[in-house]
Amino acid sequence: MIDQDKIKESVRLFLEAIGEDPERPGLLETPDRIARMSEEIFSGLGKDCKEILSKRFPADHPEMVLERDIQFYSVCEHHLLPFFGKVHIAYVPNGEVVGISKLARTVEVYARRPQIQEQMTAQIADALMEELSPRGVMVMVEAEHLCMSMRGIKKPGSKTVSYAKRGVFQEKSRVQEFFELLESDAYHDYRKQTV
Ligand SMILES: [Zn+2]
Repeated sequence: MIDQDKIKESVRLFLEAIGEDPERPGLLETPDRIARMSEEIFSGLGKDCKEILSKRFPADHPEMVLERDIQFYSVCEHHLLPFFGKVHIAYVPNGEVVGISKLARTVEVYARRPQIQEQMTAQIADALMEELSPRGVMVMVEAEHLCMSMRGIKKPGSKTVSYAKRGVFQEKSRVQEFFELLESDAYHDYRKQTV
């Protein structure tokens, strides 16, 4: 799906356009490296999570399941610079759960493409609602955007936070429970023992 030759050609043109010499030794292999790297960092393009989330387990678990601190790296579609950080996903099952690793793989599908943070947050929530049919989903993303840190307003280290709430997470008490779990170290010790 990714046209390697087209990427190489456009990187050479881009280097020329900024006044560089694409033939100098340091840059000679850069177009090729970027073409190969693109296969990886844009590997979510054209994918969805139907297959990833198709293996579900029956579970009589009416409580919230939270996976905290899922690391992600994405690329801002406005500047083609990285944004990266953590995703926290909570859902309240409706008779079925998925393996925890599948939540991280769902994040990858939507992170590995040109993206905007708010859209990625909503896409993850909607995919989980669609495939798991849970009673509700809440997704929170905290990210640093290099297009804000390196240029423009230059605020290194500042975080952009976005949320998506679906189903029972429209209720205030559920959101409160989400934040309690998110901040609870006891919960994380408990998870370490049980995973
Ligand atoms: Zn940007």
